[in-house]
Amino acid sequence: MTTLPSIPIAMPLLGEAEVDAAARVIRSGWVTQGPEVEAFEAEFAEYVGAAHACAVSNCTTALHLALLAVGVSPGDEVITVSHTFIATANAVRYCGAVPVFVDIEADGFNIDPELIAAAMTPRTRAIVCVHQLGMPCDLGTILPIARHHGIPVVEDAACATGSEILFDDRWQRIGRPHGDIACFSFHPRKVVTTGDGGMLTTSDPKLDASFRLLRQHAMSVSDTVRHAAGRVIFESYSCLGYNYRLTDMQAAIGRQQLRRLGEIIPRRRELASIYAEKLGELDDLVPPREPVWARSNWQSYCVRLPDGMPQLQFMQHLMDLGISTRRGVMNVHLEGAGTEVGRLGSTLARSEAAQVGCVMLPLFAQMKDDEVVRVVDALTVALERCRPVSETA
Ligand SMILES: *Cc1c(COP(=O)(O)O)cnc(C)c1O
Repeated sequence: MTTLPSIPIAMPLLGEAEVDAAARVIRSGWVTQGPEVEAFEAEFAEYVGAAHACAVSNCTTALHLALLAVGVSPGDEVITVSHTFIATANAVRYCGAVPVFVDIEADGFNIDPELIAAAMTPRTRAIVCVHQLGMPCDLGTILPIARHHGIPVVEDAACATGSEILFDDRWQRIGRPHGDIACFSFHPRKVVTTGDGGMLTTSDPKLDASFRLLRQHAMSVSDTVRHAAGRVIFESYSCLGYNYRLTDMQAAIGRQQLRRLGEIIPRRRELASIYAEKLGELDDLVPPREPVWARSNWQSYCVRLPDGMPQLQFMQHLMDLGISTRRGVMNVHLEGAGTEVGRLGSTLARSEAAQVGCVMLPLFAQMKDDEVVRVVDALTVALERCRPVSETA
């Protein structure tokens, strides 16, 4: 056991600016889907370089609206990964559609683009690619395949605020978007937070209009429009919609969080490079690979364990040393009633291996360099304690 304070896996960076922003909104009297939400949308769109941004209650609801907007209906199929947070697949299931799971790349945690075409059927209606743990997926390969088949691409960018991709020879932020729609999360486990919150970005004004309709019960007149009108307006409800609104307190906090990204992203990238350097000296753990065309925000820093290393024991040793970790990303097809959750579009051997063979390490903007050193020292101890007896003898 350790006497030093333990190091958490993640920690939101919130301060007095966020406290003041929320208080200002409460005093204003307009507390949901009002002027702060509009301002947050405009600032987020500008940050990622998108024509349109629409705020919603979280990224799960963002994904649901994105899939509805591109026409996903009951009985349709949506190609995605099983190796993701369950929200990705649940959004497909909310539409009455079937997630079709394909495997991840050999040397990363994102969809293997080579497996997409073979998983297509006449019922394929969309592809959801996930920028897992903040690492951009290979859009340069995925998008031509999708376009060739006329299938829309929704980017699950829940973890990817501030990540960049080299596209058309320029570094661009995830969310322009490069596919048809990108969906972001502002849960506290992500890089910036509004408590809960989500955002959809697109270049298509028609898609943006459908998000705005569906996020508030398909109500024909928004509250801001009605409030500003000089005459009485009656609204109508043209189809099934939802209450997926973001509050103005959350939006005001989000605006402050965006201002911190200029500090948060470079610091996270710096911490990741310290990890990579120190882990290089260990040569037992495989650090995550960043392709030359990607700049991750390092929402999570996930390392591969040596073959056969008992993950749970390894993580317990780290916890005893005051280091909080998480196992590799879950596999949706292994949860619940299994086959009912979706259909397998390929074998998922790499996805399953990554869940049991990887561990996520602490990384957050406030983390100190010497805390990274402490984590790496603890990793050295845990590796030693977990080594099979035959090797140590
Ligand atoms: C966190 C996460 C989500 C869900 O985001 P919420 O805002 O919590 O709904 C979806 N997909 C991925 C990959 C995530 O990591």
